Amino acid sequence: MGSVGEIVVIGAGPAGLMAAETAAAAGRRVTLYEAMPPPGRKFLMAGRGGLNLTHSEPFERFLSRYGDAAGHLAPMLEAFPPDALRAWAAALGIETFVGSSGRVFPVGLKASPLLRAWLTRLARAGVQLQTRRRWDGFAPDGAHRLLAPDGTVVPVSAAATVLALGGASWARLGADGTWSTALAALGVPLAPFRPANCGFAIAWPDWFVERHAGTPLKNIALSVGAVRVRGEAVIAGYGLEGGAVYALGAAPHQALAEAGAATFQLDFKPDLTAAELASRLDRPRRGASLTGFLRKAANLPPVAAALLRATKPDAAGAGPAALARALKDLPLVATATAPIDRAISTAGGVRWDALGPDLQLRARPGVFIAGEMLDWEAPTGGYLLQACYATGQWAGAAAARHVGRGG
Ligand SMILES: Cc1cc2nc3c(=O)[nH]c(=O)nc-3n(C[C@H](O)[C@H](O)[C@H](O)COP(=O)(O)OP(=O)(O)OC[C@H]3O[C@@H](n4cnc5c(N)ncnc54)[C@H](O)[C@@H]3O)c2cc1C
Repeated sequence: MGSVGEIVVIGAGPAGLMAAETAAAAGRRVTLYEAMPPPGRKFLMAGRGGLNLTHSEPFERFLSRYGDAAGHLAPMLEAFPPDALRAWAAALGIETFVGSSGRVFPVGLKASPLLRAWLTRLARAGVQLQTRRRWDGFAPDGAHRLLAPDGTVVPVSAAATVLALGGASWARLGADGTWSTALAALGVPLAPFRPANCGFAIAWPDWFVERHAGTPLKNIALSVGAVRVRGEAVIAGYGLEGGAVYALGAAPHQALAEAGAATFQLDFKPDLTAAELASRLDRPRRGASLTGFLRKAANLPPVAAALLRATKPDAAGAGPAALARALKDLPLVATATAPIDRAISTAGGVRWDALGPDLQLRARPGVFIAGEMLDWEAPTGGYLLQACYATGQWAGAAAARHVGRGG
């Protein structure tokens, strides 16, 4: 026999935690189920990069980052905008600051103090957390099938449910996208998962990978077609990843889809013109290695010489003008995206036409969807977490109202 909860939230990432908090604040009894032993594992991983919670740019611009999904997300982001997220964190004792790029971070640049304070607040609000319970779809009577680690099925019924099971990347942190099978079986329209904010595969020579995998490329600019961004990228064994790559957004994906390859033009010295760089390089090498010469003449790191050798060996021995041109416009040709499991986030998931305006599944009334399960994508910059919070709050409030109306 299954237990009957008022509101069940499944998935204890930021979207599920926010849904649970909102439903509990509306006076509902909430049980939160999570497959992994500790909640919020991807959130903690995001903390390793400083935990970019949201962004401080004007709201209209902020909203535009969600592309095609902006219209659907607008009411939710208006109800829980970036300032509300900052105030919410402050109420948990976590002050935030705006970085030079406009991104918003917690002062300590860590996720764990925030998550700890959040879980304490949820426990005080009466939210029951049960970990090691994996959602395995619905039983014929409509109850949730939750699997215990030994494979036992624990049936759970609820007056309303929020599913917040995440996207389909970094499966080892919990979000493996297997929920799509159960929802597809119900006839829920789903968009296929695609990596978003992901790296790209580049066929580096073995010697280059051995010496330079993991090396950051700092203060660079990257362009694909007409789209150019400044920032940092990282050499990965499989290719190229990092903030500047993700910030290029759809451009490399489009190039791949249209031409089967995406060329990243790398500019090692975005603050200098090619002529300025050439004049710095216009001095005798006096037998110095290319690495030593580039360091002395232009303050470039060893990876610059290595990348020249790996991708444009002719330029390595060229005169100052050609060398400067190569360093300002080095083509790195990608032939595929990185595996989806390495993506910061995934596009695709539950389509908007599967849902009512309250995020309720048309195919299964009383079940609401939040977070990265929904079909939206956005660049990095705090937009991902902000939308997870906002949709979590929206779904949690809607589930509470659903119970209030008697289902
Ligand atoms: C390395 C990295 C860095 C990132 N940095 C940032 C950043 O700085 N800023 C930003 O905005 N975003 C960042 N993100 C993205 C952000 O972390 C995610 O978009 C966000 O965590 C998604 O929230 P969610 O609640 O929808 O899903 P998740 O956080 O993935 O949570 C889903 C939860 O559901 C559980 N679950 C899954 N399947 C089941 C099941 N069948 N049964 C029970 N439980 C299940 C999972 O274990 C998990 O706890 C980063 C992501 C990564 C990987």
